Amino acid sequence: MTQHDNKHDAPGADISRRRFIRAAGGLAAATAAGPALAQAPSADAAPARTLPFLIGRMGDTLLARGNRRRVVICGGGWGGVTAAKYLRQYAPELEVVLLERNPVFFSCPMSNKWLVDQVDVQFLTHDYLAVSEKYDYRFIQTEILEIERERKTVITAAGRLAYDYLILAPGIRYNYEAWFANDRRMAEATRARFPAAYIPYAEHFHLKNALQSFKGGDLVMTLPPPPQRCPPSPYERACLIASMFKQKNIPGRIIILDHKDGVRPIGPGFRAAFEELYKDIITYVPNARIEEIDPFKKEIRTEAGDFRFDHAILMAPHQAGDLAWKAGVVPAPGSGRPGGWADVDPLFLHDRNDKDVYVIGDAVGFVSPHFAFYPKAGHVANRHARIVARYIAEREAGREPSYILPDNLCYMMVNTAPQEGISVQFDYKVNAEGIIEQTQMDFNERTPDTVPEDFNWARLIYADMFT
Ligand SMILES: Cc1cc2nc3c(=O)[nH]c(=O)nc-3n(C[C@H](O)[C@H](O)[C@H](O)COP(=O)(O)OP(=O)(O)OC[C@H]3O[C@@H](n4cnc5c(N)ncnc54)[C@H](O)[C@@H]3O)c2cc1C
Repeated sequence: MTQHDNKHDAPGADISRRRFIRAAGGLAAATAAGPALAQAPSADAAPARTLPFLIGRMGDTLLARGNRRRVVICGGGWGGVTAAKYLRQYAPELEVVLLERNPVFFSCPMSNKWLVDQVDVQFLTHDYLAVSEKYDYRFIQTEILEIERERKTVITAAGRLAYDYLILAPGIRYNYEAWFANDRRMAEATRARFPAAYIPYAEHFHLKNALQSFKGGDLVMTLPPPPQRCPPSPYERACLIASMFKQKNIPGRIIILDHKDGVRPIGPGFRAAFEELYKDIITYVPNARIEEIDPFKKEIRTEAGDFRFDHAILMAPHQAGDLAWKAGVVPAPGSGRPGGWADVDPLFLHDRNDKDVYVIGDAVGFVSPHFAFYPKAGHVANRHARIVARYIAEREAGREPSYILPDNLCYMMVNTAPQEGISVQFDYKVNAEGIIEQTQMDFNERTPDTVPEDFNWARLIYADMFT
């Protein structure tokens, strides 16, 4: 036992308290007599520490092993934060550690409504500390740097920690390389000036400020090729910004440059909104595959024509988040497997070659020859998390898990005065050949009734993650 241990590692509260007093005494001595006295001998902390205990370095042991098996969850977004809670419920004997870089949870779902002042920021943000205390898992706010699969170790900016099971929930990254190859300056300028606001949460504040100071002119949105995070949400965003322009009499035009040949999903519903509500504001351009973008000159060349813009929301293609690449779950080029996303077992969501490494949420790759990828949705990430928590609990109980499939439900607001929305639902089943099949139902009719359903969905799913 070392002073790195915590209440979860301790076999009894007495020992934990003794350690606390000893550690506190060590720190007091260090303060009084200089740092050297704080270096209590420790098998876990090599080399000898010269810093106060809670200032970690990547070479330090972040959490020493106790006598419980440990699940480390990388990424505390929609998937990760749900997985932490459900693991504690399904397998209370496990130690659960959630690692996340952000201090606060910021929800991408419902954020389009926040951009145009239909909800306030309190609706989108949630407290990691309260929920981790309530369900007794460790939330550690830190940057995850590397994953050493061969040593079953995660390296963070605050230290390293070992795992028995790893859950990767890193979300997405922008593949700016597809636009700019290795030109870092172009990629950085694009993100800094015209961020997509598809990764929480600094970009969202930038975009909101830009929209609020937009006085008119051409606002261009480039839409990425599939698979992408929440495919209907760029169209929702266009409708809501157009609705705001209408309400505030802003002489703006929104030009949607879509990589695809048509609006999907809920295509007829969105097209009806474009034509019936925003005819003079939204211009939809299909097959506008990007050939060149210049964030300095504000110019875009596409297969469907060239465009100049006053402001833009530039969405580069999406891929699995950086961590999935660092963990080695994204197939290398030339491997014969679909690239860019995590290569998982379609039913059990573990890495194809490593049953102790699970991937959940948007980072999950190809799962079916019928529909290729699950929709990259918070709803699916939440379901993946609960499913994987169940799989791990079953394995810990010595049972072989049976597969469980997700579902998906997505509401899109298309008008703010009055508030109206459309929606889409997905269900899954495994067919006789063992392949996952998808049923999709689009609800294209624009109705006010969809809006309370949308808010109810959000409240329920936030409650599922945070209360
Ligand atoms: C505008 C918009 C609208 C949307 N609307 C809906 C909707 O209505 N319904 C719906 O279901 N979905 C919607 N989505 C999609 C939804 O946001 C995503 O599908 C969901 O967030 C995926 O969850 P995830 O856990 O895979 O990734 P995320 O929620 O992105 O979580 C990943 C987490 O990992 C953390 N992380 C990554 N790398 C590191 C690192 N190195 N160190 C530490 N932490 C790290 C990130 O900070 C982040 O918190 C919408 C998305 C957008 C952008």
